Amino acid sequence: MTNSAGSSSIAQPHLLPVFARADVAFERGEGVWLTGTDGERYLDFTSGVAVNALGHCHPHLVAALQEQATKLWHMSNLFKSPDGERLAARLCEQSFADFVFFCNSGAEAMECAIKVTRHYHFSKGKPERTRIITFEGAFHGRTLGTLAATGAAKYLEGYGPPLEGFDQLPLGDLDAVKKAVGPNTAGILIEPVQAEGGVRAAEPAFFRSLRDVCDANDLLLVFDEVQTGMGRTGDLFAYRRLGIEPDVMSLAKALGGGFPIGACLATAKAAAGMAPGSHGSTFGGNPLAVAAANAVLDVMLKPGFFEHAQKMSLLLKQKLASVVDRYPQVLAEVRGEGLLIGLKAVVPSADLVNALRGEKLLTVGAGENVVRFLPPLIVNESEIQEAVSRLERACVALSGPQLKRAAGQ
Ligand code: PLP
Repeated sequence: MTNSAGSSSIAQPHLLPVFARADVAFERGEGVWLTGTDGERYLDFTSGVAVNALGHCHPHLVAALQEQATKLWHMSNLFKSPDGERLAARLCEQSFADFVFFCNSGAEAMECAIKVTRHYHFSKGKPERTRIITFEGAFHGRTLGTLAATGAAKYLEGYGPPLEGFDQLPLGDLDAVKKAVGPNTAGILIEPVQAEGGVRAAEPAFFRSLRDVCDANDLLLVFDEVQTGMGRTGDLFAYRRLGIEPDVMSLAKALGGGFPIGACLATAKAAAGMAPGSHGSTFGGNPLAVAAANAVLDVMLKPGFFEHAQKMSLLLKQKLASVVDRYPQVLAEVRGEGLLIGLKAVVPSADLVNALRGEKLLTVGAGENVVRFLPPLIVNESEIQEAVSRLERACVALSGPQLKRAAGQ
């Protein structure tokens, strides 16, 4: 069997075939490195798609989960959650938020954000205000609600009528936003950096204008930080670098460092109408998940953690830019913030991902023919150099015979 990325897949007849899985599996990981079942070592610049921010099997996370596993795994939200309260308090202290709802994934965090946004107006006696402005190129998840917010035909096809209530506009078009705001508008939803969409972002001034539009029209500004949040862009939350605050924000991916947990954060004003019964989750914020996320915060909030990530970002971007200069037949551009870095390819991006995997460097595709480099935030200089050397080898292989000769291969 050949998948859409061009490689043959391991026979897996019982897994629903919704993923184009590469023909490789892994049995263990340590830091930035993975060991495949083929016995090879791979440099992991996927971080499980921006999840393993502290690398694989970080000792502090392993210890926290081992300790929690001997005490209590799951308790329902019918009872108090002291560690959940501690995690929520820490997230609020670090952000604009007053309240946190815990769930299990990015899509669930976004569902909560959409519900909070609609409920805000409902509880103010304006139930007709349900529409949310979104942007082309967005990705908000795979539930029916978040798919409708995502709005791309390729994801919606085959699933019947999408959830009503999203008005999708070109990214960065402020006039379109102003025109789209009407009596039924409830909020504006945006990713600080569109990651799945190809590592592209609107200008900071656009975000500030969105804040103004929201303030002028009593709309909630919702940031989807499922991928950008928890350090990926070089700060705990990407919004901090924009000089404004949202009213609602979703987190997931790196929040549990590899243990599934999502969160929806909101101001007291935005969440004012939410009361017992308004929303819920069986597993959301259970003791194992909360222990993992508290351990992630322990590490990230240590002095110097984000400075390191920013330093590595600069180094990686500089080195990538020099590879782009030397292989214009293969690569066109470096983009992104922090360690959410995109390489826009000239060759088909799937070919580049495959060639890099051949060099035992794991990366992730994105929209706009971009390949994402998402190393764990604890990546060091020599690992970055190693990744860049592997990229160069892949570029040579993809450059064709003429360039190979020029490069002395
Ligand atoms: N929002 C953004 C910005 C994402 O990147 C993703 C996943 O890639 C999601 C939401 C959905 O998250 P999940 O796959 O955990 O449901």
